[in-house]
Amino acid sequence: MRQSTFHVDDMAKIVSLAKRRGLIFPSSEIYGGFANSWDYGPLGVLLKENIKAAWMQSMAQDRDDVVPIDSSIILAPRVWEASGHLKNFTDPLVDCKVCHKRWRADELRDGRCPECGGEVTAARPFNLMFKTYIGPVEDEAAVAYLRPETAQGIFINFKSIMTTYRLKPPFGIAQLGKSFRNEITPGNFIFRTREFEQMEMEFFVMPGTAPEWLDYWVNERKDWYERYGLRTDNMRLREHTEDERAHYSRGTFDIEYRFPWDWGELEGIADRGDFDLTQHEEFSGEDLRYFDEATKQHIRPEVIEPAAGATRATLAFLVDAYDEEPDGDETRVVLRFHPALAPVKAAILPLQRKPELTNLAKELRSKVRRRYLTQYDETGSIGRRYRRQDEIGTPFCITPDFQSLEDSTVTVRDRDSMTQERIPIDDLTNWLEDRIENG
Ligand code: ATP
Repeated sequence: MRQSTFHVDDMAKIVSLAKRRGLIFPSSEIYGGFANSWDYGPLGVLLKENIKAAWMQSMAQDRDDVVPIDSSIILAPRVWEASGHLKNFTDPLVDCKVCHKRWRADELRDGRCPECGGEVTAARPFNLMFKTYIGPVEDEAAVAYLRPETAQGIFINFKSIMTTYRLKPPFGIAQLGKSFRNEITPGNFIFRTREFEQMEMEFFVMPGTAPEWLDYWVNERKDWYERYGLRTDNMRLREHTEDERAHYSRGTFDIEYRFPWDWGELEGIADRGDFDLTQHEEFSGEDLRYFDEATKQHIRPEVIEPAAGATRATLAFLVDAYDEEPDGDETRVVLRFHPALAPVKAAILPLQRKPELTNLAKELRSKVRRRYLTQYDETGSIGRRYRRQDEIGTPFCITPDFQSLEDSTVTVRDRDSMTQERIPIDDLTNWLEDRIENG
């Protein structure tokens, strides 16, 4: 359990560490950058992939009633008509008459421009979907959209997955992948970007049972963030008020996280009723009900949707893991990731650059790397090498020393407590497995 109460309140520290250590950098930098676009470097990819894998594991591996899907990013344009996105997926846009900045009407302060206090224009709806054209002719008939959410790819495949997989409600379909929204005010690093990744699951339930399942999924999802180390104090649950809820939703909860600038949504969990399936029935002409043997009735399930952002969760796990503590005259910066999320699981650091130690270290490394992502480092003092690993959140540093040559044990140094333990080389992978899987 995390002891530290440190909470980073300066995003610049996170952005600079992410850049310095190859987690996340500004995109297209050699061309002067491209606003609000970010590229994931080697360690950023590993962190994000670990988060997605942990999500998918909790959905499709640890339980029997959720299956995965990977649908297309560009779907038939009718899908977005049916889902209501073409008509309703808009934000109210205003322009400042003085400084000409654009804002979402809900971001205004006292009805005026948050930047210069100027008067703003009347709000007009702005559709957030990215438009493109299929094929060489750029006319209306060729218009298509990049998906603004992964959920609709699930609804349109619901019936075929249920049939081919012989599923019956309650069951869910989970999808991970990129989504695109032409946000009016992207920002706060990777919190809000125009291209991002989502982790969404649609859980189909018998009519009348949705309220219980909504409670169930709110708790499951909160537990998931806690299991992977987000501190409870930095999370809160907020129920949407009636005017705030999407028109189809009968109940929505947001799991919010205390980001450095303020609380912000991490995930929304909504009771969508049978809105989506009804809409797709109407627009496609397909009957999306199924015949329930028990009640001898055609049933259209209702849906509970936990919808999370994978890139936004990456930011939350990064912010929450960030810790600083005094270290003599310096400051030790540590990313206290849960071991399952840490990009690098173990670093192999021979005590000295002597062949007998480096050879043993390389031998150990080839053994451990079959199971886990590792780094090897023989340059600089051992203290400095530990600090380099702390800064990228590596939970364990394995050091072969002269005693290792005598008794086939190595020291394993723990990132959080900084204590060292001697472990027999033969037990090393099992020892690591136990700590990495169980946190
Ligand atoms: P917000 O109110 O922040 O715009 P939303 O309520 O529109 O979010 P949903 O449509 O419920 O978001 O999407 C589910 C999740 O996808 C959000 O909780 C968030 O984690 C993530 N998400 C949505 N938009 C973005 C974005 N532009 N950049 C990064 N993540 C996003």
